[in-house]
Amino acid sequence: MSARRKLVAGNWKMHGSHSANAELLAGITGARPFACDVAVCVPFPYLSETAVALAASDIRWGAQDCSAHDQGSYTGEVSVGMLAEFGCRYVIVGHSERRQYHQESDQLVADKARAALARGITPIVCVGETLAQREAGETDAVVKRQLSAVIHTLGHCAGEMVVAYEPVWAIGTGRTATPEQAQAVHALLRAQLQAATAHAAGMKILYGGSVKPDNAATLFAQPDIDGGLIGGASLKAADFVAICRAAA
Ligand code: PEP
Repeated sequence: MSARRKLVAGNWKMHGSHSANAELLAGITGARPFACDVAVCVPFPYLSETAVALAASDIRWGAQDCSAHDQGSYTGEVSVGMLAEFGCRYVIVGHSERRQYHQESDQLVADKARAALARGITPIVCVGETLAQREAGETDAVVKRQLSAVIHTLGHCAGEMVVAYEPVWAIGTGRTATPEQAQAVHALLRAQLQAATAHAAGMKILYGGSVKPDNAATLFAQPDIDGGLIGGASLKAADFVAICRAAA
């Protein structure tokens, strides 16, 4: 059993409305206490109301992306300084949907992680292979390359990030990596972190990809899986709470 406290973070993606958010957040806060750290990463326009709704709780909140720039003429972008003003504790960077639909490179993801840490916000750095890459036997090389860019850019701060292994073929598909498949990649990532930072043993490596109440416990029982990044199931309070309970 790992001594690392688990983290379950919801990724709401582009979902939500004032009324749905209020109901969801009330359902989560009403289910406290949890035996793990819990966070929700919400769309930018909902940061303010999320901060208000969670202010009196130990549940943290964050965003799903950030700019690598501090400020300037970058229409549509949101800086980490702005996220900090909303009390964000976390920001997801390098989600496969950003890499795929917005052509985010490994280096841009690393620059975003560095910008976040510079403002005291913990980046949740996503890595993961596509189905074609897995079938070609490239999983290890792909995730190592993605993480390597971040490790090199963060330097001595690398130990402060959270890593999320999210096989692209498991995101939103209902197809989950088996606990053994996930553990094998997590162990690989931990070894890579160990070679780079003295803090690797205490770092959280989350698993993401169709985590549901009925598969969370077996995934979280793996020695190098320190919680989850939860997409679809984070939108229903009962499911999200059940996943948090599985991360005791
Ligand atoms: C995600 O979007 O990070 C994710 C893991 O989604 P889902 O849980 O829906 O697969």
